[in-house]
Amino acid sequence: MQVRTGLWRTLRPIVDTERCRKCVWVCGSLCPDGVIFPDVEGHAAIDFDHCKGCLVCLAQCPWHAIEAVPERAARDSGFLQIHCATCQEIVDAILIAYRLAEDAAVRLPVIVNLDGFYLSFTREPVDLPDTEAAARFLPPFDAGTLAFRAGHPVSEAVAVLGGGPYSYFRYQIHLAAEAALDVFDQTAGVFEATFGRRYEAVERYRMDDADVAFLMIESFATKAKAAVGRLRAAGHKVGLVRPRLLRPFPEAALRAALKGVKGVAVVDQNLSMGKGGILFAEVASALYGLDGAPVLVSFIGGLGGRDIDADDFAEMAAVTQKAADTGEAPPPRLLFDADELAEVRKLQTLAAVEWPKESEPEPEPEPKSEEAAS
Ligand code: SF4
Ligand code: SF4
Repeated sequence: MQVRTGLWRTLRPIVDTERCRKCVWVCGSLCPDGVIFPDVEGHAAIDFDHCKGCLVCLAQCPWHAIEAVPERAARDSGFLQIHCATCQEIVDAILIAYRLAEDAAVRLPVIVNLDGFYLSFTREPVDLPDTEAAARFLPPFDAGTLAFRAGHPVSEAVAVLGGGPYSYFRYQIHLAAEAALDVFDQTAGVFEATFGRRYEAVERYRMDDADVAFLMIESFATKAKAAVGRLRAAGHKVGLVRPRLLRPFPEAALRAALKGVKGVAVVDQNLSMGKGGILFAEVASALYGLDGAPVLVSFIGGLGGRDIDADDFAEMAAVTQKAADTGEAPPPRLLFDADELAEVRKLQTLAAVEWPKESEPEPEPEPKSEEAAS
């Protein structure tokens, strides 16, 4: 089976041809997937069908000619999106994605999304589904009325025929995406019956009596689980909620998962410029108007491979607990510490750049232990 690893990407590397010095032997030889080639002018060009988004090229390009753009840009393209936090989930999600995409009520393409910078370098034991069980789970595709028949010619023309038909077909895609929620649940049930692993549209971790929850969609949710363990051991009622689907967005399951929770730290590993965290906006709209909705606090972290460490989680829990107690959410916060700010200042000084004081990101307070979070 040939796998298009481009479907797993969370961040897309983009080459700035103005800066690119055409030294493709550098990024081309460092790309672990061997998907960077010179284009006709000699600039680096990336095969996005097979680039998994690990961002080694971005880190290694000596001319800083590659930047990362969140793949959430695909959010409104009509693709469904499954997000994975472990290597096992990636393998399993690929099987689930095929069955979901081929269901007669859906028939939409699916992106299986992973955090390339983190997960593609993670080694962990993975239970590979055996071929016979996979074939049972994925019966042959029934194209139904889509099949081409020589004796029954039909037009399969592109459906962009003007405003009316375009609106109609976009709405049909929307309905199919909504239908995918139920189909995902049914598919997850069949997957569990076949392979013994269950994947809910929204994962809940130690949420039974939680006052405060981390809400994340990417692989750093595995670090959030460890932080929940440490915070729980220190007496804090903290849990984790993780939607596995971004499209369709599982609003009802999310509302149910957050019932009774007082404060939610929404942690985005992305930044929609001019708006803020993408997941935060999705969650805020899902909870809008809900009686007893928790206070939401927005955190942006993990950009460009930056770590989100134990101190970050302790700080986020403390800030969110305070917001829940007072009923007032602080402004969105970039996880960015004093050392990182000093590093940026050093670079700006070298480049003789002046910076307006008010544009400075506020560094995090000095690290403190999770026991102090309250
Ligand atoms: S290493 Fe950077 S500058 Fe050189 S070809 Fe690759 S992208 Fe361009
Ligand atoms: S992100 Fe990773 S896989 Fe994609 S082009 Fe860069 S180094 Fe290669």
